[in-house]
Amino acid sequence: MILMQGKGVSAGVEKGTLYFYQRTDATVTKTAADIETEKQRLADAQKKSIEQLEVLAEKARAEAGDESAILFETHSMFVEDEDYVDNIMSVLEAEQCNIEYAVQEAGKQFSAMFANMDDAYMQARAADVLDVTRRILNNLMGIVAGGIDSEEPVILAADDLAPSETVQLDKSKILAFATQGGSGNSHTAILARTMGIPAICGLGDSLKAEYAGRVAYIDGEVGRLVIEPDELTEKTFQDKYAKQAEMRRLLQTMKGQEDVTLDGKHINVYCNIGSPDDVAAVKSNDGQGVGLFRSEFLYLASNDYPTEDEQFEAYKTVASAMEGKRVIIRTLDIGADKQVDYFQLEKEENPAMGVRAIRICLNRPEVFRTQLRALYRASAYGKVAIMFPMITSVWELKECRRACKSVMQELAEEGIPFNPDTEIGIMIETPASVFIADELAKLCDFFSVGTNDLTQYTLACDRQCNDLGKFFDPHHPAVLRALKMAADAAHRNGIWIGICGELGADLSLLPTFLAMDLDELSVSPSSVLPLRAELRKSIAKTCDLKLLEC
Ligand code: PEP
Ligand code: MG
Repeated sequence: MILMQGKGVSAGVEKGTLYFYQRTDATVTKTAADIETEKQRLADAQKKSIEQLEVLAEKARAEAGDESAILFETHSMFVEDEDYVDNIMSVLEAEQCNIEYAVQEAGKQFSAMFANMDDAYMQARAADVLDVTRRILNNLMGIVAGGIDSEEPVILAADDLAPSETVQLDKSKILAFATQGGSGNSHTAILARTMGIPAICGLGDSLKAEYAGRVAYIDGEVGRLVIEPDELTEKTFQDKYAKQAEMRRLLQTMKGQEDVTLDGKHINVYCNIGSPDDVAAVKSNDGQGVGLFRSEFLYLASNDYPTEDEQFEAYKTVASAMEGKRVIIRTLDIGADKQVDYFQLEKEENPAMGVRAIRICLNRPEVFRTQLRALYRASAYGKVAIMFPMITSVWELKECRRACKSVMQELAEEGIPFNPDTEIGIMIETPASVFIADELAKLCDFFSVGTNDLTQYTLACDRQCNDLGKFFDPHHPAVLRALKMAADAAHRNGIWIGICGELGADLSLLPTFLAMDLDELSVSPSSVLPLRAELRKSIAKTCDLKLLEC
């Protein structure tokens, strides 16, 4: 039996084949080759690339409209572009080499040519050339972009996964995650909880690439991964699996029930989502709204700034699908751990405290304006609310409001429909926002507490760092007191407050949240029914704030 112990970051048990995530940056070496064979290999790889791009274009069209499909259609044409292919052929014939080398060299030359053009639009095409080149190379070398070359769903193993990698994964192929690094707040963990599948991080070197292809059992609650279990361990897994199935069956009875305590205290139980695809999980788990739509998925999944129309289609899809239920869309929150190449952000010593989230938007008014226009346009199709991340000052919120007002004026002048009463809220995720919560509350319609970042900034503990162990404690009285201060300030000023950080799903804190009189909890879709079941057993008036004591 091979036993690996890490940190369980998304509960559940599963059995499946271990599959190691494949990165797509394989190295190409130059070898001598038969030119005619290589030409045929190129033709096959071009054909495969075009087929893949057609599938991607269809997917993009269905998820985010025609505009998003254009990128893939352009890439598809580029695969057979005459100048590009001539360039590959010249290298091939001059060097009498393998086609991989010729494609790589031609791609470099061609992208450099675009990068050196004066026109900014043409310069940006350099990234497209590299992308197409990478796709052809992957097909030549049998590398699967998006990481999973398996017919069956697998337990996906990796050193760690970047947010830009997780957005591209084919989710239908994943049974569970197991990573060497990462933390409970990493985006792999958040994605796993959204999908309702087990995940373990921090397995370190015990998770070895040589285990690829072996059948493993994963227990995301206790953080255990086992290959070739002994009889007793296998029985423990099977018992747990049976209990999990029974629990899921029981939870189904919670569907359609009210989110209310035994003594009549209502809480809105909403869901956190990362893309329009996740709405299906919100609906199947009976979430009563979307409390946090992390809009950065659009930026992470693109090679260039998503256009206003692309964003509009994505927001409209979610707003319409939720049929009048509240959909809180958070404006772009990149920087720190969520890096997007084309933003060309300066490398920072302390990125979590650097130019991220609302700071980027306020520094780049055009990027902000594009997103706000898309959001207001989508507000005509459902109950959209706009939320700003990482607010620390009153002036920031005032600037955000000014930007909203100016966008509304533009849309009105252009005769484009929008909801002028769209709610505006902020995330409470910095200690500064807690200390000035009274003033901020007077300028917005709601607060949503980002406990992941609030814990990080209150305790001076990096949320990405797995080694901090017990120092990163979201139950710390300082974090809970900060929450209470924000709740009191919200209610004193007549606005509502919820939690959209991971703590919202922590059932052991539900009595504390009830004692604070929170109005909303936004959790991963898979946590809705367990939270509802717990809420419906609770008595709000007997709950207390004991946990706030040291
Ligand atoms: C948070 O910080 O708690 C939050 C919900 O935002 P994110 O995890 O996306 O930073
Ligand atoms: Mg945050």
